[in-house]
This record gives sequence, C-alpha cells and structure tokens, in this order.
Amino acid sequence: MSIVYKCKHCSHVIGEIEQQIVSTSMLGWDKLSIKDKEKMIQYKENGDVHVQSICENCEDSLGHHPTYYELEFFLQ
Ligand SMILES: [Zn+2]
Repeated sequence: MSIVYKCKHCSHVIGEIEQQIVSTSMLGWDKLSIKDKEKMIQYKENGDVHVQSICENCEDSLGHHPTYYELEFFLQ
C-alpha cells in the first residue's frame, strides 16, 4: 500500500510513501479527531491511503490572502 499526500486545493500530489505497515500513531493521526480523519483521510479500495493536505504553491497563494486562509483553517 502507499500513502498519497494530495493538495486539497489543486489536487497536486505532494508526496507518496510506500509502506508495508502503517501505524496511525507514527503519522500523528491518533491526535486527530474521528471527524478530522474522515475529512482528511480517504481509504481506497486498493489499500492506498489518500491524505488531503496543502501544497507549497497553494500555501504561498493562501499566504497572500490571509482572510481566505483563516476561513479555510476554520472550516477544517
Ligand atoms: Zn495546491
């Protein structure tokens, strides 16, 4: 299986990790609430895990729009 980090804004693949065994605590997911996990983490039928994240480009552009960024942060 692999863990794919994808930007939730532009769908850019930020990174991909091949893992045989994935520990959720290793990824810090045990610190997320179940609701956060449902929003951020998608389990695919082939065993892949897709994680919604934000890429550098979008982080940059959001950095220029603080109000929008705050809204996004709040909605997470
Ligand atoms: Zn992006």
